[in-house]
Amino acid sequence: MEKIQMKTPLVEMDGDEMTRILWKMIKEELLLPYIDLKTEYYDLGLAHRNETDDKVTMDSALAAKKYGVAVKCATITPNAARMEEYHLKEMWKSPNGTIRAALDGTVFRAPIIVKGIEPCVRNWEQPITLARHAYGDVYKNAEIKVEGPGKAELVFTAADGTETRELIHTFAGPGVLQGIHNTEQSVRSFARSCFNYALDTKQDLWFATKDTISKKYDHTFKDIFQEVFDREYKEAFARAGIVYFYTLIDDAVARVMKAKGGFIWACKNYDGDVMSDMVSSAFGSLAMMTSVLVSPDGIYEYEAAHGTVQRHYYKYLAGEETSTNSVATIFAWTGALRKRGELDGILELCAFADRLENATVRTIEDGRMTKDLALITTLKDVTVLNSEAFIREIRKTMETLS
Ligand code: NAP
Ligand code: MG
Repeated sequence: MEKIQMKTPLVEMDGDEMTRILWKMIKEELLLPYIDLKTEYYDLGLAHRNETDDKVTMDSALAAKKYGVAVKCATITPNAARMEEYHLKEMWKSPNGTIRAALDGTVFRAPIIVKGIEPCVRNWEQPITLARHAYGDVYKNAEIKVEGPGKAELVFTAADGTETRELIHTFAGPGVLQGIHNTEQSVRSFARSCFNYALDTKQDLWFATKDTISKKYDHTFKDIFQEVFDREYKEAFARAGIVYFYTLIDDAVARVMKAKGGFIWACKNYDGDVMSDMVSSAFGSLAMMTSVLVSPDGIYEYEAAHGTVQRHYYKYLAGEETSTNSVATIFAWTGALRKRGELDGILELCAFADRLENATVRTIEDGRMTKDLALITTLKDVTVLNSEAFIREIRKTMETLS
Protein backbone atom coordinates (compact mmCIF):
# COMPACT_ATOMS: atom_id res chain seq x y z
CA MET A 1 0.00 0.00 0.00
CA GLU A 2 1.29 3.43 -0.88
CA LYS A 3 1.68 5.88 1.95
CA ILE A 4 -0.34 9.10 1.97
CA GLN A 5 1.81 12.07 1.00
CA MET A 6 1.74 15.38 2.83
CA LYS A 7 2.57 18.85 1.52
CA THR A 8 2.99 21.12 4.54
CA PRO A 9 4.52 19.83 7.78
CA LEU A 10 2.51 19.61 10.97
CA VAL A 11 4.11 21.29 13.94
CA GLU A 12 4.74 18.41 16.34
CA MET A 13 5.11 19.35 20.01
CA ASP A 14 6.31 16.35 22.00
CA GLY A 15 5.71 16.25 25.75
CA ASP A 16 6.22 14.42 29.01
CA GLU A 17 5.79 11.23 31.02
CA MET A 18 3.15 8.64 30.08
CA THR A 19 1.73 10.71 27.26
CA ARG A 20 5.21 10.90 25.72
CA ILE A 21 5.31 7.10 25.75
CA LEU A 22 1.84 6.93 24.13
CA TRP A 23 2.89 9.56 21.59
CA LYS A 24 5.66 7.33 20.25
CA MET A 25 3.43 4.24 20.18
CA ILE A 26 0.68 6.11 18.30
CA LYS A 27 3.12 7.36 15.69
CA GLU A 28 4.79 4.00 15.16
CA GLU A 29 1.68 1.84 15.17
CA LEU A 30 -1.08 4.06 13.77
CA LEU A 31 0.50 6.83 11.68
CA LEU A 32 3.88 5.99 10.17
CA PRO A 33 2.74 2.76 8.45
CA TYR A 34 0.10 4.74 6.54
CA ILE A 35 1.36 8.29 6.12
CA ASP A 36 4.60 9.74 4.85
CA LEU A 37 4.42 11.87 7.96
CA LYS A 38 5.89 15.34 7.58
CA THR A 39 6.37 17.18 10.84
CA GLU A 40 8.53 19.94 12.20
CA TYR A 41 9.47 18.46 15.56
CA TYR A 42 9.76 20.45 18.80
CA ASP A 43 10.64 18.63 22.00
CA LEU A 44 8.64 20.29 24.77
CA GLY A 45 9.65 17.57 27.23
CA LEU A 46 10.62 19.31 30.47
CA ALA A 47 14.31 18.35 30.25
CA HIS A 48 14.61 19.98 26.85
CA ARG A 49 12.60 23.05 27.87
CA ASN A 50 15.08 23.45 30.71
CA GLU A 51 18.10 23.02 28.43
CA THR A 52 16.81 25.68 26.04
CA ASP A 53 15.70 28.07 28.82
CA ASP A 54 12.17 27.38 27.53
CA LYS A 55 13.03 28.91 24.16
CA VAL A 56 11.78 25.75 22.47
CA THR A 57 8.22 26.50 23.63
CA MET A 58 8.19 29.93 22.02
CA ASP A 59 9.85 28.51 18.88
CA SER A 60 7.11 25.90 18.61
CA ALA A 61 4.42 28.58 18.97
CA LEU A 62 6.06 30.62 16.21
CA ALA A 63 6.17 27.52 14.02
CA ALA A 64 2.45 27.01 14.64
CA LYS A 65 1.89 30.58 13.46
CA LYS A 66 3.99 29.92 10.38
CA TYR A 67 2.37 26.61 9.31
CA GLY A 68 -1.10 27.00 10.81
CA VAL A 69 -1.60 23.53 12.35
CA ALA A 70 0.07 21.96 15.38
CA VAL A 71 -0.40 18.82 17.46
CA LYS A 72 0.74 18.81 21.07
CA CYS A 73 1.44 16.11 23.63
CA ALA A 74 0.62 16.81 27.30
CA THR A 75 3.43 18.56 29.16
CA ILE A 76 4.42 19.05 32.77
CA THR A 77 3.71 22.46 34.27
CA PRO A 78 6.56 22.77 36.77
CA ASN A 79 5.93 23.19 40.49
CA ALA A 80 8.27 22.93 43.49
CA ALA A 81 8.38 19.12 43.31
CA ARG A 82 9.28 19.19 39.60
CA MET A 83 12.06 21.72 40.25
CA GLU A 84 13.82 19.02 42.25
CA GLU A 85 12.82 16.06 40.13
CA TYR A 86 14.17 17.64 36.93
CA HIS A 87 16.86 19.89 38.47
CA LEU A 88 15.31 22.92 36.81
CA LYS A 89 17.11 26.24 36.40
CA GLU A 90 13.77 28.04 36.85
CA MET A 91 10.13 27.22 37.43
CA TRP A 92 9.27 27.49 33.73
CA LYS A 93 5.80 28.68 32.85
CA SER A 94 3.04 26.39 31.62
CA PRO A 95 3.72 25.68 27.91
CA ASN A 96 -0.02 25.82 27.25
CA GLY A 97 -0.15 29.31 28.73
CA THR A 98 2.83 30.43 26.64
CA ILE A 99 1.40 29.01 23.42
CA ARG A 100 -2.09 30.36 24.11
CA ALA A 101 -0.72 33.85 24.75
CA ALA A 102 1.45 33.75 21.62
CA LEU A 103 -1.49 32.72 19.43
CA ASP A 104 -4.06 34.86 21.29
CA GLY A 105 -6.19 31.74 21.11
CA THR A 106 -9.29 30.24 22.65
CA VAL A 107 -9.44 26.63 23.86
CA PHE A 108 -12.34 24.44 22.72
CA ARG A 109 -12.89 21.24 24.66
CA ALA A 110 -15.12 18.48 23.34
CA PRO A 111 -15.86 14.94 24.52
CA ILE A 112 -15.46 11.91 22.26
CA ILE A 113 -18.76 10.05 22.33
CA VAL A 114 -18.85 6.25 22.22
CA LYS A 115 -21.66 3.78 22.91
CA GLY A 116 -21.13 2.16 26.27
CA ILE A 117 -19.69 5.27 27.93
CA GLU A 118 -22.91 7.10 28.68
CA PRO A 119 -23.11 10.73 29.82
CA CYS A 120 -24.67 11.33 33.25
CA VAL A 121 -27.18 13.60 31.54
CA ARG A 122 -29.42 11.16 29.66
CA ASN A 123 -30.52 13.57 26.92
CA TRP A 124 -26.96 14.52 25.86
CA GLU A 125 -26.68 12.61 22.59
CA GLN A 126 -24.03 14.71 20.91
CA PRO A 127 -20.92 16.41 22.23
CA ILE A 128 -21.12 19.80 23.90
CA THR A 129 -18.03 21.80 23.04
CA LEU A 130 -17.01 24.30 25.66
CA ALA A 131 -15.09 27.46 24.77
CA ARG A 132 -13.54 29.40 27.62
CA HIS A 133 -12.33 32.98 27.33
CA ALA A 134 -8.79 32.77 28.63
CA TYR A 135 -8.08 36.36 29.62
CA GLY A 136 -8.97 38.70 32.46
CA ASP A 137 -11.91 39.01 34.86
CA VAL A 138 -11.29 37.43 38.24
CA TYR A 139 -8.08 35.76 36.97
CA LYS A 140 -6.37 39.16 36.72
CA ASN A 141 -7.98 40.86 39.68
CA ALA A 142 -6.85 43.32 42.31
CA GLU A 143 -8.22 42.73 45.80
CA ILE A 144 -8.30 44.62 49.06
CA LYS A 145 -9.34 43.32 52.44
CA VAL A 146 -11.12 46.23 54.06
CA GLU A 147 -10.35 46.44 57.76
CA GLY A 148 -12.89 49.03 58.87
CA PRO A 149 -15.22 51.90 57.90
CA GLY A 150 -14.42 53.92 54.77
CA LYS A 151 -15.37 54.68 51.18
CA ALA A 152 -14.41 52.51 48.20
CA GLU A 153 -14.34 54.03 44.72
CA LEU A 154 -13.48 52.85 41.24
CA VAL A 155 -11.07 55.37 39.70
CA PHE A 156 -9.95 55.44 36.07
CA THR A 157 -7.24 57.91 35.11
CA ALA A 158 -7.16 58.51 31.36
CA ALA A 159 -3.89 59.07 29.51
CA ASP A 160 -4.55 62.85 29.61
CA GLY A 161 -5.00 62.77 33.38
CA THR A 162 -8.81 63.05 33.45
CA GLU A 163 -10.38 60.99 36.22
CA THR A 164 -13.63 59.05 36.15
CA ARG A 165 -14.96 57.92 39.54
CA GLU A 166 -17.67 55.56 40.58
CA LEU A 167 -18.66 54.85 44.16
CA ILE A 168 -18.44 51.14 44.94
CA HIS A 169 -19.52 51.11 48.56
CA THR A 170 -19.40 53.04 51.78
CA PHE A 171 -18.22 50.58 54.37
CA ALA A 172 -19.55 50.79 57.92
CA GLY A 173 -17.22 47.99 58.98
CA PRO A 174 -14.79 45.40 57.63
CA GLY A 175 -15.36 43.80 54.23
CA VAL A 176 -13.70 42.89 50.93
CA LEU A 177 -13.14 44.60 47.58
CA GLN A 178 -12.25 43.36 44.12
CA GLY A 179 -11.31 45.10 40.88
CA ILE A 180 -11.45 43.22 37.58
CA HIS A 181 -11.01 44.18 33.94
CA ASN A 182 -11.08 42.99 30.38
CA THR A 183 -10.11 44.54 27.06
CA GLU A 184 -12.13 45.04 23.90
CA GLN A 185 -9.35 43.49 21.89
CA SER A 186 -9.33 40.29 23.91
CA VAL A 187 -13.11 39.90 23.81
CA ARG A 188 -13.07 40.53 20.07
CA SER A 189 -10.41 37.84 19.54
CA PHE A 190 -12.44 35.47 21.68
CA ALA A 191 -15.56 36.20 19.63
CA ARG A 192 -13.74 35.65 16.32
CA SER A 193 -12.21 32.37 17.49
CA CYS A 194 -15.68 31.18 18.52
CA PHE A 195 -17.41 32.21 15.29
CA ASN A 196 -14.60 30.68 13.19
CA TYR A 197 -14.74 27.42 15.09
CA ALA A 198 -18.53 27.24 14.82
CA LEU A 199 -18.26 27.63 11.04
CA ASP A 200 -15.41 25.17 10.91
CA THR A 201 -17.31 22.46 12.78
CA LYS A 202 -20.78 23.47 11.50
CA GLN A 203 -22.26 23.76 14.97
CA ASP A 204 -24.48 26.42 16.54
CA LEU A 205 -22.78 28.83 18.92
CA TRP A 206 -24.26 29.79 22.28
CA PHE A 207 -22.91 32.64 24.35
CA ALA A 208 -24.14 33.78 27.73
CA THR A 209 -23.27 36.40 30.36
CA LYS A 210 -25.03 38.15 33.24
CA ASP A 211 -25.74 41.34 31.28
CA THR A 212 -29.00 42.10 33.11
CA ILE A 213 -27.07 42.65 36.34
CA SER A 214 -23.74 43.79 34.91
CA LYS A 215 -25.03 46.47 32.57
CA LYS A 216 -21.61 47.75 31.48
CA TYR A 217 -19.12 44.94 32.06
CA ASP A 218 -21.01 41.86 30.87
CA HIS A 219 -23.11 43.92 28.49
CA THR A 220 -19.92 44.91 26.66
CA PHE A 221 -19.17 41.22 26.04
CA LYS A 222 -22.67 40.74 24.64
CA ASP A 223 -22.40 43.86 22.45
CA ILE A 224 -18.99 42.96 21.05
CA PHE A 225 -20.13 39.45 20.14
CA GLN A 226 -23.22 40.84 18.41
CA GLU A 227 -21.26 43.52 16.57
CA VAL A 228 -18.59 41.08 15.33
CA PHE A 229 -21.30 38.61 14.34
CA ASP A 230 -23.41 41.13 12.41
CA ARG A 231 -20.45 42.63 10.60
CA GLU A 232 -18.31 39.59 9.82
CA TYR A 233 -20.18 36.32 10.26
CA LYS A 234 -23.92 36.69 9.80
CA GLU A 235 -24.00 35.67 6.15
CA ALA A 236 -21.53 32.82 6.53
CA PHE A 237 -23.63 31.41 9.39
CA ALA A 238 -26.79 31.60 7.28
CA ARG A 239 -25.02 29.83 4.41
CA ALA A 240 -23.75 27.12 6.75
CA GLY A 241 -27.23 26.72 8.26
CA ILE A 242 -26.04 27.38 11.82
CA VAL A 243 -27.14 30.00 14.35
CA TYR A 244 -25.54 32.31 16.88
CA PHE A 245 -27.64 32.39 20.02
CA TYR A 246 -27.20 34.75 22.99
CA THR A 247 -28.96 34.26 26.30
CA LEU A 248 -28.53 34.94 30.02
CA ILE A 249 -26.08 32.62 31.77
CA ASP A 250 -28.81 31.20 34.06
CA ASP A 251 -30.97 30.43 31.07
CA ALA A 252 -28.01 28.87 29.24
CA VAL A 253 -27.24 26.55 32.17
CA ALA A 254 -30.88 25.45 32.36
CA ARG A 255 -31.09 24.88 28.60
CA VAL A 256 -27.80 22.96 28.45
CA MET A 257 -29.17 20.41 30.90
CA LYS A 258 -32.20 19.81 28.68
CA ALA A 259 -30.39 19.95 25.35
CA LYS A 260 -29.32 17.13 23.02
CA GLY A 261 -25.83 18.57 22.53
CA GLY A 262 -24.17 19.25 19.21
CA PHE A 263 -23.34 22.91 19.85
CA ILE A 264 -20.54 25.13 21.11
CA TRP A 265 -21.03 26.88 24.42
CA ALA A 266 -18.85 29.98 24.75
CA CYS A 267 -18.26 31.12 28.33
CA LYS A 268 -16.56 34.00 30.06
CA ASN A 269 -13.37 33.04 31.91
CA TYR A 270 -14.87 32.01 35.26
CA ASP A 271 -18.00 30.40 33.81
CA GLY A 272 -15.80 28.42 31.44
CA ASP A 273 -13.46 27.28 34.21
CA VAL A 274 -16.35 25.93 36.27
CA MET A 275 -18.61 24.67 33.49
CA SER A 276 -15.88 22.86 31.57
CA ASP A 277 -15.16 20.66 34.58
CA MET A 278 -18.86 19.96 35.04
CA VAL A 279 -19.52 19.19 31.39
CA SER A 280 -16.41 17.04 30.98
CA SER A 281 -17.00 14.95 34.07
CA ALA A 282 -20.66 14.51 33.13
CA PHE A 283 -19.58 13.14 29.75
CA GLY A 284 -17.70 10.36 31.50
CA SER A 285 -13.93 10.60 31.37
CA LEU A 286 -11.15 13.14 31.11
CA ALA A 287 -9.29 10.63 28.98
CA MET A 288 -12.00 11.04 26.32
CA MET A 289 -11.78 14.82 26.10
CA THR A 290 -10.12 16.62 23.22
CA SER A 291 -8.90 20.16 23.24
CA VAL A 292 -8.09 22.52 20.41
CA LEU A 293 -6.62 25.99 20.62
CA VAL A 294 -7.95 28.24 17.86
CA SER A 295 -6.54 31.70 17.19
CA PRO A 296 -8.72 34.52 15.79
CA ASP A 297 -6.76 34.32 12.53
CA GLY A 298 -7.36 30.59 12.15
CA ILE A 299 -4.32 28.77 13.59
CA TYR A 300 -5.13 25.40 15.17
CA GLU A 301 -3.30 23.49 17.90
CA TYR A 302 -4.78 20.10 18.83
CA GLU A 303 -4.18 18.17 22.05
CA ALA A 304 -5.71 15.93 24.70
CA ALA A 305 -7.40 17.70 27.61
CA HIS A 306 -5.75 15.49 30.24
CA GLY A 307 -2.27 15.80 31.67
CA THR A 308 0.81 13.60 31.46
CA VAL A 309 -0.73 10.82 33.61
CA GLN A 310 2.19 10.90 36.02
CA ARG A 311 1.03 8.04 38.25
CA HIS A 312 0.94 5.62 35.30
CA TYR A 313 4.37 6.80 34.15
CA TYR A 314 5.97 5.88 37.46
CA LYS A 315 4.43 2.41 37.14
CA TYR A 316 5.79 2.22 33.60
CA LEU A 317 9.25 3.21 34.82
CA ALA A 318 9.05 0.51 37.49
CA GLY A 319 8.41 -2.02 34.73
CA GLU A 320 4.78 -2.55 35.71
CA GLU A 321 1.97 -2.90 33.20
CA THR A 322 -0.06 0.24 32.47
CA SER A 323 -3.49 0.64 30.96
CA THR A 324 -3.44 4.27 29.90
CA ASN A 325 -6.12 5.56 27.56
CA SER A 326 -4.65 7.00 24.35
CA VAL A 327 -7.96 8.04 22.75
CA ALA A 328 -7.72 11.81 23.32
CA THR A 329 -4.11 11.84 22.11
CA ILE A 330 -5.07 9.86 18.99
CA PHE A 331 -7.87 12.37 18.33
CA ALA A 332 -5.40 15.22 18.71
CA TRP A 333 -3.44 13.68 15.82
CA THR A 334 -6.52 13.01 13.71
CA GLY A 335 -7.80 16.54 14.30
CA ALA A 336 -4.50 18.01 13.15
CA LEU A 337 -4.13 15.67 10.16
CA ARG A 338 -7.69 16.37 9.00
CA LYS A 339 -7.16 20.13 9.28
CA ARG A 340 -3.85 19.84 7.37
CA GLY A 341 -5.65 17.76 4.74
CA GLU A 342 -8.41 20.38 4.40
CA LEU A 343 -5.94 23.25 4.10
CA ASP A 344 -3.73 21.46 1.58
CA GLY A 345 -6.55 19.80 -0.35
CA ILE A 346 -5.36 16.26 0.49
CA LEU A 347 -8.59 14.26 0.67
CA GLU A 348 -6.80 11.00 1.53
CA LEU A 349 -5.43 12.60 4.68
CA CYS A 350 -8.94 13.66 5.80
CA ALA A 351 -10.27 10.20 4.98
CA PHE A 352 -7.45 8.60 6.97
CA ALA A 353 -8.29 10.78 9.99
CA ASP A 354 -11.93 9.66 9.75
CA ARG A 355 -10.90 6.03 9.46
CA LEU A 356 -8.58 6.15 12.47
CA GLU A 357 -11.28 7.85 14.57
CA ASN A 358 -13.88 5.30 13.49
CA ALA A 359 -11.51 2.46 14.29
CA THR A 360 -10.81 3.90 17.75
CA VAL A 361 -14.50 4.30 18.57
CA ARG A 362 -15.38 0.90 17.15
CA THR A 363 -12.66 -0.85 19.15
CA ILE A 364 -14.18 0.49 22.36
CA GLU A 365 -17.75 -0.22 21.25
CA ASP A 366 -16.67 -3.81 20.52
CA GLY A 367 -15.67 -4.09 24.17
CA ARG A 368 -11.90 -3.70 23.91
CA MET A 369 -10.72 -0.81 26.07
CA THR A 370 -8.36 0.49 28.71
CA LYS A 371 -9.03 0.12 32.43
CA ASP A 372 -10.37 3.64 33.04
CA LEU A 373 -13.20 2.99 30.55
CA ALA A 374 -13.80 -0.59 31.66
CA LEU A 375 -14.58 0.81 35.12
CA ILE A 376 -17.39 3.04 33.84
CA THR A 377 -18.76 1.27 30.77
CA THR A 378 -22.30 -0.05 30.52
CA LEU A 379 -21.09 -2.76 28.09
CA LYS A 380 -20.93 -6.34 29.36
CA ASP A 381 -17.97 -8.73 29.05
CA VAL A 382 -15.31 -6.21 28.13
CA THR A 383 -11.64 -6.98 27.56
CA VAL A 384 -9.28 -4.73 29.51
CA LEU A 385 -6.15 -4.00 27.51
CA ASN A 386 -2.80 -2.52 28.45
CA SER A 387 -1.60 0.73 26.88
CA GLU A 388 0.17 -0.90 23.96
CA ALA A 389 -2.35 -3.68 23.28
CA PHE A 390 -5.18 -1.14 23.02
CA ILE A 391 -3.30 0.76 20.31
CA ARG A 392 -2.56 -2.50 18.48
CA GLU A 393 -6.25 -3.44 18.61
CA ILE A 394 -7.13 -0.09 17.04
CA ARG A 395 -4.73 -0.86 14.22
CA LYS A 396 -6.39 -4.24 13.69
CA THR A 397 -9.81 -2.59 13.58
CA MET A 398 -8.50 0.00 11.15
CA GLU A 399 -7.23 -2.71 8.79
CA THR A 400 -10.79 -4.06 8.58
CA LEU A 401 -12.18 -0.64 7.66
CA SER A 402 -10.13 0.14 4.54
P1 NAP B 1 -3.60 13.89 34.63
O1 NAP B 1 -2.32 13.62 33.95
O2 NAP B 1 -4.71 14.35 33.77
O3 NAP B 1 -4.04 12.59 35.42
C1 NAP B 1 -4.89 12.59 36.55
C2 NAP B 1 -5.50 11.21 36.71
O4 NAP B 1 -6.58 11.06 35.79
C3 NAP B 1 -4.56 10.07 36.42
O5 NAP B 1 -3.77 9.74 37.53
C4 NAP B 1 -5.52 8.99 35.98
O6 NAP B 1 -6.19 8.40 37.10
C5 NAP B 1 -6.56 9.78 35.22
N1 NAP B 1 -6.22 9.92 33.80
C6 NAP B 1 -5.96 11.07 33.12
N2 NAP B 1 -5.71 10.81 31.84
C7 NAP B 1 -5.80 9.49 31.68
C8 NAP B 1 -5.65 8.61 30.58
N3 NAP B 1 -5.31 9.08 29.37
N4 NAP B 1 -5.82 7.29 30.77
C9 NAP B 1 -6.15 6.80 31.98
N5 NAP B 1 -6.32 7.58 33.06
C10 NAP B 1 -6.15 8.91 32.92
O7 NAP B 1 -3.39 15.01 35.75
P2 NAP B 1 -2.26 15.15 36.88
O8 NAP B 1 -1.75 13.82 37.30
O9 NAP B 1 -2.88 16.07 37.85
O10 NAP B 1 -1.10 15.92 36.18
C11 NAP B 1 0.08 15.30 35.71
C12 NAP B 1 0.92 16.34 34.98
O11 NAP B 1 0.21 16.78 33.83
C13 NAP B 1 1.21 17.58 35.81
O12 NAP B 1 2.61 17.80 35.80
C14 NAP B 1 0.47 18.70 35.10
O13 NAP B 1 1.21 19.88 35.12
C15 NAP B 1 0.32 18.18 33.71
N6 NAP B 1 -0.87 18.65 32.97
C16 NAP B 1 -0.69 18.98 31.66
C17 NAP B 1 -1.75 19.36 30.88
C18 NAP B 1 -1.49 19.70 29.44
O14 NAP B 1 -0.38 19.63 28.97
N7 NAP B 1 -2.51 20.05 28.69
C19 NAP B 1 -3.04 19.37 31.41
C20 NAP B 1 -3.22 19.00 32.75
C21 NAP B 1 -2.11 18.63 33.51
P3 NAP B 1 -5.66 7.11 37.90
O15 NAP B 1 -4.29 7.45 38.37
O16 NAP B 1 -6.67 6.96 38.98
O17 NAP B 1 -5.66 5.96 36.92
MG1 MG C 1 -11.20 24.41 36.55
